[in-house]
Amino acid sequence: MAEVTAPAIEPADILWQDGVPESRLFGDVYFNRDNGLEETRHVFIRPNRLSERFAGLPDNAAFVIAEFGFGTGLNFLAAWQAWRNSPVNQRTTLHFVSAERYPLTREDLTRALALWPELQDLGNELIRHYPPLVRGVHRVLLDGGRVRLTLYFGDVLDAMRELEFTADAWFLDGFTPSLNPSMWLDDAILQIRHHSKPGTTLATFTAVGRIRRALTDGGFTMTKVEGFGRKREMLTGVIPESAFEPPEADARKPASIAIIGAGIAGSLLARNLAERGVKVLLVDGANNAGNAASGNLQGALYVKLGVEFNAQTQLALSALLFSHRYYAPYRNNGWYPTGLLQMAWGENEQQRQERFLDRNHYPPEVLAPVNAAEASNRTGIPVESGGLWYAHSGWLEPAALCKTLADHPNIQHCFGMEVQGLAKCDDQWVITGSGHDIRTDRIALCSGHQTPELASLTGMDGYFRFKPIRGQVSHLPEERIHSPKAVICGPRYLNPSNKGVCVTGATFDLHELSPRESVDSHRENLTELTTMLPELWKNEPPSETETEALEGRVGFRCTTHDYQPVAGSLDNLEGHKLDGLYLFTGLGSKGLTYAPLLAEFLADKLTGQPACLPRSLEKRVNPHRCYKMAKTEIT
Ligand code: SAM
Repeated sequence: MAEVTAPAIEPADILWQDGVPESRLFGDVYFNRDNGLEETRHVFIRPNRLSERFAGLPDNAAFVIAEFGFGTGLNFLAAWQAWRNSPVNQRTTLHFVSAERYPLTREDLTRALALWPELQDLGNELIRHYPPLVRGVHRVLLDGGRVRLTLYFGDVLDAMRELEFTADAWFLDGFTPSLNPSMWLDDAILQIRHHSKPGTTLATFTAVGRIRRALTDGGFTMTKVEGFGRKREMLTGVIPESAFEPPEADARKPASIAIIGAGIAGSLLARNLAERGVKVLLVDGANNAGNAASGNLQGALYVKLGVEFNAQTQLALSALLFSHRYYAPYRNNGWYPTGLLQMAWGENEQQRQERFLDRNHYPPEVLAPVNAAEASNRTGIPVESGGLWYAHSGWLEPAALCKTLADHPNIQHCFGMEVQGLAKCDDQWVITGSGHDIRTDRIALCSGHQTPELASLTGMDGYFRFKPIRGQVSHLPEERIHSPKAVICGPRYLNPSNKGVCVTGATFDLHELSPRESVDSHRENLTELTTMLPELWKNEPPSETETEALEGRVGFRCTTHDYQPVAGSLDNLEGHKLDGLYLFTGLGSKGLTYAPLLAEFLADKLTGQPACLPRSLEKRVNPHRCYKMAKTEIT
């Protein structure tokens, strides 16, 4: 099979034999022809004692199943069903981590899952959220977030090296080792131990001696048991409790957490933790959520993907795809997936898009090139250039969305508190501010451009390389312009009208720090927009008097020295004892897109659950890179 250019990945080449899927590449079936679901229960669900172990989980615990070979997702659905049938499904989280080198297309997946009427609801939910076939990690939230699926599209060995998790149970489900040796390399088997702990169990349909010995060497006590159907034997295993040093029992009550800043980052993080059962305190100087940089009426869900498919592009793409899925429940209630056009604006951008399309292969459900006529048709506005069409993107109401997100029974608000400083006192953090102090075990600073001030604690002589960038948006009255049907991005973005206005912007003012709206900024927005979309205005472009009377809003983006976001712990920063202090900021003008994935990642870290970012991307967002020891001016 020809290699497919990144970021796309080769799909499974399926031969349907009597309605049952078979891999042409490996010459083997995905599951037993007679009863695949019963086989899954016999081989994976029962030997791992899932129902019994689920039932014994304490509140807010997470149970982690890891799998080699996602295939049709049948094993996953059967595990999800067992968890659904357990009494704990409303107060625990099921994580399922699976690697797949040749993912099924959505069409094949739909056909395969149609074989199981009793799994129909779960199957349909999986199909709706199934990611596009691009390489790397995809985190999929199901069952209201109580089921979190981490799908790695790529080789199992890379998955094991890149992903951070500890499994409670394993499903080893490659094709038969003789037909699929790459899945069963000793190196891959060795990785299983790195991702296991005392009590971790394992099951596999194969009984091959080499594999049994490799797993035994990996610390598992292996047993041969009766196989399913015509297969005589299969293997189960467990890591005895005595195999590792037992971890110290942590008898403390769950660590408390305060989130400072109720913008899009803080509100998403609070909501994410709350939905996992964690109680959070959300602190902000304003009297409600979504007041500062995230307080705009509209914002576009947008990233600019690089010509090179490097770590930076991977992060942007993962964030974009995750945000489409994450916002889905807020459709027409803060989230409007109208589609988005990234115009091939000007010669430079046109050439950049040509190189981008030449070197990369994106599935059309992610993005597709369109010419000027098609672009005009999709946006409803005559545009002079084509560009890239993102069918699943759109716009958000950030201010309203922050308020919706922050409204959850597990989120306690501490609004109207102007935070003045943080200090470590014994094992806890103390937040001092107007009115009173707060003591907490952990703090996540989501305070945008005010973060460096708050994170620079007494005794730290370095500084954080963050800078504020002013951005002003203009509200264009609907009666003056032809409202687009979809978001248009070029030198400015323009959103479809909402409540009588279309928001356009934003300026990018590196040297201006005034929080007041300025007519100059409105003028700049209008000039850029009119050059980009000359036929936008119903009559003439706005007169000077109209420009002066325009409404808008000023916000400050927080940007890092390398224009990459920040999400992670500050512990051990240059030897300082900052354990329990986390930063989540530096999102620049792409906060709406990056924040859902990074909130998911931080929530993973804060709860000790499997991480949704591979190690290579975790490094990119590490806050330590933004701290500089020598005190020099940032230019
Ligand atoms: N568990 C699946 C289900 O519930 O449908 C069936 C898995 S099927 C027997 C084996 C899967 O392993 C195939 O989907 C195949 O593409 C995948 N696979 C084979 N070699 C792989 C590798 N080196 N890395 C990751 N996945 C691989």
